[in-house]
Amino acid sequence: MDLYEHQGKELFGRFGIPTSEGRLATMPQEARAAAEELGGEVVVKAQVLTGGRGKAGGIKLAGSPPAAEERAREILGLDIRGHVVRKLWIERASDIAKEYYLSLTFDRGEKRPLYMLTTEGGVDIEEVAERDRDAIARLHVDPLEGFQPYQGRRLIYGAGIADPGEQKQVLDIIGKLYACFIGADAMLCEINPLIVTPGGEVRALDSKFTIDDSALFRHPDIAEMRDLSAYPEEERKAREKGVTYVKLDGEVGVLGNGAGLTMSSVDMVSFVGGRAANFCDLGGGGSAQGVIDALEVITADPQVRSIMFNIFGGITRGDEVARGILQALEELTIEQPIVVRLDGTNADEGRQILHEADAANLYPEATMLDAAKRAVELAA
Ligand code: GDP
Ligand code: MN
Repeated sequence: MDLYEHQGKELFGRFGIPTSEGRLATMPQEARAAAEELGGEVVVKAQVLTGGRGKAGGIKLAGSPPAAEERAREILGLDIRGHVVRKLWIERASDIAKEYYLSLTFDRGEKRPLYMLTTEGGVDIEEVAERDRDAIARLHVDPLEGFQPYQGRRLIYGAGIADPGEQKQVLDIIGKLYACFIGADAMLCEINPLIVTPGGEVRALDSKFTIDDSALFRHPDIAEMRDLSAYPEEERKAREKGVTYVKLDGEVGVLGNGAGLTMSSVDMVSFVGGRAANFCDLGGGGSAQGVIDALEVITADPQVRSIMFNIFGGITRGDEVARGILQALEELTIEQPIVVRLDGTNADEGRQILHEADAANLYPEATMLDAAKRAVELAA
């Protein structure tokens, strides 16, 4: 789960990482009021779950409350790479002498958290890495030992931060970022830029924060930060109904029971030359209602042109699934053809039920390969 900048900064604050004071606004008048409360120059920042807002015109300075209202009017409603701006963060403006970059991310290859620090911040870190790999100091942390202060010093010297005042503050922030990363079960905490003011003060001017979804149950307060309006309709539906759903960008909707079979179905669609639009895992139960919920979620995705329904009955019974499909066809208006492959427990009964129903857009197939082929054909 990705957090908005202001949410990430709230977590930074909890762990003692310095940020600037700010207020949320959803209307131009609120931006004006926020600027009045904060006093002086402010920066009006689009809150969207994507980076590069500055370049896209989503971040603007305002010298007065009326100017803040004006900037808010310009930024609200802006489309930043497919994300429409509905929320603004109005923050006391900072004077910037230097822009650094600091991040802590989970390096899956090394199975350890990885720090990156460079004095060439503010810009795209990928660009810096491409131009000069050595400009970025990197350091892995052993999760059992935890973060050690000597590692922070190594990072600082590696990045070439020489000023003693800066060293002390950056070191402190590096340590706190580790506590924040672990404490929030994060996969990524990125500060770009980490600024140094002309007075020598260091603080986080931006935040990019990703929490491990599997750990959200431990953080109900963070889980609550999820902004459902930022998700497409079918993802919202999936969450509401407790359906496991992943969006992809092809044209075949994939529905299976169990993660392994569902992933194999996605692979099979690719294998026969198609692409999955999404996939949905019914799980072990596969009750009629579960099938209806899953079909409702899958067909809400406008990219779906056909559906591959792949069930291997274990605990899930084929007759129950077949009844679910027929019930879904009655309750929902499903225009896309549904290719069904049923096997395992009560598969014969299930196929019999589907056969007798003789529905127009149902295509039973005997094997997974045939089902994938048929679904890809029908999507073409
Ligand atoms: P991003 O473009 O989405 O990464 O958004 P950032 O929050 O990183 O802001 C982009 C850039 O806007 C920063 O690198 C700064 O140069 C500038 N900026 C943001 N906040 C301030 C501020 O308070 N004062 C000044 N002078 N510039 C700012
Ligand atoms: Mn940034």
